[in-house]
Amino acid sequence: MDTCISCKTKITNLRGTVSFKCPKCGKHEIVRCAQCRKIVSKYTCPECGFIGPN
Ligand SMILES: [Zn+2]
Ligand SMILES: [Zn+2]
Repeated sequence: MDTCISCKTKITNLRGTVSFKCPKCGKHEIVRCAQCRKIVSKYTCPECGFIGPN
């Protein structure tokens, strides 16, 4: 089950969730919930350590 990478909330069926490949390594699927997008919560890619708001 997918969880938000920032807050670990299960994002199944949540509106406004986005998922995208890590902009740096392109390997890891980054999943973020609407709340974390709203507050611009930081995330870290487990693959390459990339830290980003988006
Ligand atoms: Zn979140
Ligand atoms: Zn990465």
